[in-house]
Amino acid sequence: LNQLASRDSLTQCWNRRMIDELLDSAIAEARRKTSNLSLMVLDIDHFKKVNDTHGHAAGDVALKHMVNILNTNLREYDQVGRYGGEEFVVILPSTDKDSAWGVAERIRASLQYHPAQVDTELDISMTVSIGITEFRHDGSDGRISLFERADRALYTAKHSGRNRVVYGD
Ligand code: GH3
Ligand code: MG
Ligand code: MG
Repeated sequence: LNQLASRDSLTQCWNRRMIDELLDSAIAEARRKTSNLSLMVLDIDHFKKVNDTHGHAAGDVALKHMVNILNTNLREYDQVGRYGGEEFVVILPSTDKDSAWGVAERIRASLQYHPAQVDTELDISMTVSIGITEFRHDGSDGRISLFERADRALYTAKHSGRNRVVYGD
């Protein structure tokens, strides 16, 4: 039952409610240990066109593919969640901004070069825009401000051409 309440039913990654809880815990741990913590927000580029061109069922396969790409490029302690339709969040404990950048860039490139295989006749190529930010040990940083910075970076990534990683500070 707990699994049902915490997981996204389509992709089986964490849902938004769970990601918010996990991020609060990760922030508490980063404060306690004075350790690094990075946050990544990802939004698939022009995803509406995938649905419009290939249909909603193919779009769903493409979303599952995105989560596979994330899981194969992340470590055991990283947490993946689906935050909205085609928007995903990754919590990266013990990770500074340079390492987070490397992980984000690996995910971006991996999606670009691995299309979603919907069936034997149809491959769907996608790209993703990514905003990243790092937790600040200044006493005032928290979940809301982390998301604000990462979202702003994602917005910049979208408006500077998509298929790119932007750091927000
Ligand atoms: P941008 O590059 O600016 O992000 O463009 P976009 O088309 O990705 O952005 P927009 O937010 O306009 O479209 C998101 C689309 O995601 C709209 C909706 O049809 C689709 N979507 C949301 N949830 C689901 C879902 O569960 N399954 C499928 N197949 N599509 C979904
Ligand atoms: Mg999108
Ligand atoms: Mg979106």
